[in-house]
Amino acid sequence: MPELPEVETIRRDLEPLVLGVTIVGVELFWSGSIARPSAQEFEGLITGRTILRLGRRGKYLIFLLSGGWNLVVHLAMTGRLLVNQVKRDKHTRAVFHLEDESDLLFVNMRKFGRLYLVKDAQEVVGQLGPEPLEAEFTPQRFAHLLANRRGALKPLLLNQHFLAGLGNIYANEAPFVAELHPLRRADTLSPAEVERLYKAIRSVLEEAIEDGGTTLGDTPGDYRRPSGEKGKHQERLQVFQRTGGPCPRCGATIERMVLGGRGTYFCPHCQR
Ligand SMILES: [Zn+2]
Repeated sequence: MPELPEVETIRRDLEPLVLGVTIVGVELFWSGSIARPSAQEFEGLITGRTILRLGRRGKYLIFLLSGGWNLVVHLAMTGRLLVNQVKRDKHTRAVFHLEDESDLLFVNMRKFGRLYLVKDAQEVVGQLGPEPLEAEFTPQRFAHLLANRRGALKPLLLNQHFLAGLGNIYANEAPFVAELHPLRRADTLSPAEVERLYKAIRSVLEEAIEDGGTTLGDTPGDYRRPSGEKGKHQERLQVFQRTGGPCPRCGATIERMVLGGRGTYFCPHCQR
């Protein structure tokens, strides 16, 4: 499922293909993909608009369009944005026809992904927490945010209002790199531990972006880059879905527990 590194990879891959390009038409195969406005208004409003900028906020992609509109895309669990994949399948929910005769396909096996066409993108992304890779996100700010939270660390990292962009893959990897137990109470971290976790979050996300994201499997719902290629970061995951395997740091056996309904992976020796 696309998290910050996957959505950022999609953004970087798409940018050179779509900037300055006009959307000449759209076909909707499942109107439930359109969160707002109505599907009919969506088609009318988006046709003829030029893509001026492609941004990202957390796990959301934001296409700034001419006329001051924003197409905000949330891929949710299984969404893909594919370019020039002529083959459409039953999971294709929308096709944007571009003026250079390429097609941008929104493919979504499970139907949780949503498209929003809004004047103000803040309507959709305004409640998100800070961006972990931006300069304004400092160890001091992170320490302040953690100090107000009594809950367990790992579910907190999944909370998009707390910090934007982490999903279950990187919310498992970062505490491992920082050598912190997933159940550790957030407000008990020492300054040195906050600093370790801060650096771990950033390095884990940056390495995953370098690798073009993580593709876990071969189902039509697994993440792919816009070209259809897989990401490569699955080869470098250290604890996520590695239950029973050796810890890459100490050799102890990786364990799994369920926390807040999500699989949680950790080394019982390194993450005390
Ligand atoms: Zn270990």
